[in-house]
Amino acid sequence: MKKKVSILGAGIIGLCSGYHLLKKGHEVSFFDKNEPGSGASFGNAGSFSNYGAVGLNQPSIFKNLPTYLFSSYSPLSIKLNYLLPLIPWAVRFLKNCNVKSMRDTAEKMNALLVHSIAEYEYILKDAGASDLIEHTGVIYIYNDVNNPRVLESTKLRDDLKVKQISLSKKDVHDMEPNLNPVYEGGIFFPTAAHTRNPQKISDKIFQKCIELGATFVRDDIKYIAQSQLKSNNKEYNFDQLLITAGAFSKKFTDQLGEYIPLETERGYHIHFKGSDTLITRPVCSFDTGVYLSPMDQGLRAAGTVELGGLNNPPSPKRIEYITREAKKMLSNLPDPCDSWLGFRPTLPDFLPVIGESKNHNNIFYAFGHNHLGWTLGAITGSIISKIISKDGVSLNFSKYSPARFR
Ligand SMILES: Cc1cc2nc3c(=O)[nH]c(=O)nc-3n(C[C@H](O)[C@H](O)[C@H](O)COP(=O)(O)OP(=O)(O)OC[C@H]3O[C@@H](n4cnc5c(N)ncnc54)[C@H](O)[C@@H]3O)c2cc1C
Repeated sequence: MKKKVSILGAGIIGLCSGYHLLKKGHEVSFFDKNEPGSGASFGNAGSFSNYGAVGLNQPSIFKNLPTYLFSSYSPLSIKLNYLLPLIPWAVRFLKNCNVKSMRDTAEKMNALLVHSIAEYEYILKDAGASDLIEHTGVIYIYNDVNNPRVLESTKLRDDLKVKQISLSKKDVHDMEPNLNPVYEGGIFFPTAAHTRNPQKISDKIFQKCIELGATFVRDDIKYIAQSQLKSNNKEYNFDQLLITAGAFSKKFTDQLGEYIPLETERGYHIHFKGSDTLITRPVCSFDTGVYLSPMDQGLRAAGTVELGGLNNPPSPKRIEYITREAKKMLSNLPDPCDSWLGFRPTLPDFLPVIGESKNHNNIFYAFGHNHLGWTLGAITGSIISKIISKDGVSLNFSKYSPARFR
């Protein structure tokens, strides 16, 4: 049966969901306070990280916690003024930092990741944008190839049959000769892909959705009540609602009386203009969390995790950290020409929420994809469109259901 679906949030998750709903014959209206694709989906590292099953919920976090708490120069930092509001999420997160939960997260994430790139190829072919994905793989470099965290995550990916190739120091150099030898070795993920322009991909999918009959309303939605979205000046009725507001989704699930412990992991990017040809594919430093990606705007250095909520201003020290670490990886980089702060939406078990609301059978959720939201946009859109259309009954998506937080 044809449904009228309002989608709150036109990031990559909302856009891919809209695309699949339209293809199934439903009516779609997007609502966003900004332009489509301009949230976290704009500034990510552009990597389709189909290898990324192992989340941050690892036992080693306990050993490193003091550094994270008190140093601004580490891959993870915590804003001291946000310690108190962070506690409920942090307690749940730390409970998930054990071997069993880490494996459980990795298996459930991998079940999505194995379909992630093929699902994009399907949408992008239809949108006439297949050329926006580059299949060059991704390299991770390591300071210490025998670091227990490296060995543990490599073994886990082997168990999950993720394609990965160990690289010696010489191999890394042969593949990316401009990288300074700040590494002992690396791993190559040959089936991973990347785009030089995430915004272009969002634009293409949005245009395709409009072509298929979608409408777009630019408004800042403040409240959801009784089948209505409300902004300061307007009210919009909906039959079915899909919330895909990324890190901003919690405000709405709270209003709907459903406790979902969503937090944000703040991440940054900077660009080094004209330096994008220094590497031929994304390169990530495992030890510093800095991800270098060749982009249309220049070389993008992205990454790090800052736990500091949605309202704190950007932290200059995070930008300095990324700049310093990127300059260690590549010599002669100019000073960065810009900087950007984005909000990864993250749940304490490092799995997304994809499913129906507990309290309202006409409201659905798809958010919380943490570091993998760009990779998982297309597969998430496909799954949530099946759940909304009730045509996915043979598939079990309960592992991503919001009901797990009851
Ligand atoms: C530095 C960094 C690097 C990253 N690199 C990668 C990567 O390489 N690969 C990868 O897979 N993932 C990466 N990610 C993660 C990925 O970018 C996100 O998980 C993903 O973009 C989330 O998509 P989304 O659609 O859920 O949210 P968003 O893109 O944030 O979209 C949410 C939308 O909701 C709208 N919205 C919010 N509140 C309201 C409101 N009140 N009214 C109306 N509209 C509203 C926003 O304007 C926004 O457009 C990275 C993230 C960061 C920060």
